[in-house]
Amino acid sequence: MLLRYVNSDKNDSTIGVRGKLKKNQETFDVVIVGAGFAGMYMQHKIQQRGLSVRLYEAGSGVGGTWYWNRYPGARVDVESVEYSYSFDDDLQQDWSWSERYASQPELMRYANYFADRFSLRENMRCDTKVTAAVYDAEKLNWHITTSQGDEVSAKYCVLATGFLSSGSVPDFKGLNDYNGNTYLTSKWPKEDINFKDQKVAVIGTGSSAVQSIPIIAKQADHLTVFQRTPSFSIPARNGPMDREYEKRVKSDYPEWRRRQRYESRAGFIALNFQPTAPNNKSAIDVSDEERLIDYETRWESGGLCYYNSFVDLLTNEKANDTLAEFVRNKIREKVKDPETAELLAPKDYPIMAKRLCADTNYYETYNRENVSLVSIKDSPIEKLTKKGVVVGGHEYEVDSVIFATGFDAVTGAIKNIDVRGVAGESLDEHWEGAPRAYLGLMSNGFPNLFFLDGPCANGALVSPMLLSEHQVEWVDRCINEIGVGLGAEIVPTLEAEDAWMQHMHDVGKDSLLHLANSWYMGANIPGKPRALLSYLGGLESYRQQCSSGEANDYGNFVKTR
Ligand code: NAP
Repeated sequence: MLLRYVNSDKNDSTIGVRGKLKKNQETFDVVIVGAGFAGMYMQHKIQQRGLSVRLYEAGSGVGGTWYWNRYPGARVDVESVEYSYSFDDDLQQDWSWSERYASQPELMRYANYFADRFSLRENMRCDTKVTAAVYDAEKLNWHITTSQGDEVSAKYCVLATGFLSSGSVPDFKGLNDYNGNTYLTSKWPKEDINFKDQKVAVIGTGSSAVQSIPIIAKQADHLTVFQRTPSFSIPARNGPMDREYEKRVKSDYPEWRRRQRYESRAGFIALNFQPTAPNNKSAIDVSDEERLIDYETRWESGGLCYYNSFVDLLTNEKANDTLAEFVRNKIREKVKDPETAELLAPKDYPIMAKRLCADTNYYETYNRENVSLVSIKDSPIEKLTKKGVVVGGHEYEVDSVIFATGFDAVTGAIKNIDVRGVAGESLDEHWEGAPRAYLGLMSNGFPNLFFLDGPCANGALVSPMLLSEHQVEWVDRCINEIGVGLGAEIVPTLEAEDAWMQHMHDVGKDSLLHLANSWYMGANIPGKPRALLSYLGGLESYRQQCSSGEANDYGNFVKTR
């Protein structure tokens, strides 16, 4: 029997005899895992260098997290003009966004446009999961195995697997007994789903739920939202792109990008459509009036601009509570039923210690007749039955259950790959207790392996696009410096890794992030060690540290060329 398995590239002659597949055993300079924005830019840089590269992607197309998160209402919460590649002025001039915050379909169009514009498809294999990456300490290269049977080698391996890509569904009792439809926001089906005439349950109230609930509520006969912890959400104030604004940004895009990079905390600077420096005052040192003006201005501007508000909001509980109470009062104004308003107003953790949400009519949705909120804070979901969800002994019968229950963030997607470094040590072993990576880019014991948007960098609190570009350019320079010769190898020293982990701890120890059970802390996944997964030193400090990492001919690394 002649057996052929699906692979679109003719060069991949994957024909086997008698059921035994002949595997793709090519050798590359670089293998990249993941066709999100970081992975694709990495591939472009490697192609520009004239090196051989293969990118593997689990999805059937490019776009990374945006490929999978197609739930109703999915859109980015950073302004489109800022959440886009900045490295190529022609690209940023040529592309035009249709809305202030790009929707998931538009982000997919952008990702596909990028893949075509920079000729990435030929060196890309979709529908292919990388299952293992094992370092050969004699040959000094990575041996990479995929779900399609490929076994390829590469001098360098870059894991661009994304920090919000491994969706998580809690292990609810009776999950398999439920006979209705189930959906996971982070693996939403491609076909149009309409909940017309249905009774629907949404479990979870994080960003994905906050975006999808207002849309599902308009379709469903009845929507019941099961909330364990309420979110703080700010109106996004999305709308069609103001063409005058776009023209203004484009006329000075390089300067806008420079300010995003060097004069912002989180990589975004737009406030009421003007580039604006962060507020470096303390929230408790100013008058009530000055504080209120800042908070109201940002409320009217919309979105995540509170990350650029007073400097001590994430380090001082008293300062933090001034903003938390401001937002709680906004929630009380919006939600008509006072009991529901109190349930929706978070009181158990500091604002921004979980990621802020940006919404369109989220709180207003609870004023609808066909929407009810069930708090499961003190009475968790007991089980799912054939017909629905049981809480406090009451069975809520529903036609569909939507799990908006989040991600095994930052480390989840990496841990799905069996990564083994020198002496066969697994990354899981090396990361026992907490992930460790010098500059969030490389781990001791794992030469020639890079992480993009991985742990120990500042992915959680900065615009991911800017971080990705910065990291990709660092990795590109590193590969160029060390080269792809047989003896080329680079790995951070244990001392450098220890010092970086200590620095991460020192910078983050006073942060209020520790006071919430969020994905920032790995605290949303039962059994995952509680540890701060991101560097909180800000973009500029991270940039400087990365430059130090390159200094003295990569002095903090052991290397051969
Ligand atoms: P999330 O913020 O982690 O929210 C998950 C929700 O599920 C939480 O409300 C959580 O409650 C609940 N949950 C988890 N396990 C549960 C259980 N056993 N029983 C009851 N409830 C449970 O996840 P997400 O909404 O997918 O968002 C994750 C991140 O993705 C965001 O923070 C953001 O960074 C990013 N995101 C961005 C956008 C955007 O750009 N617009 C959109 C969506 C997501 P607890 O809080 O009590 O754990």
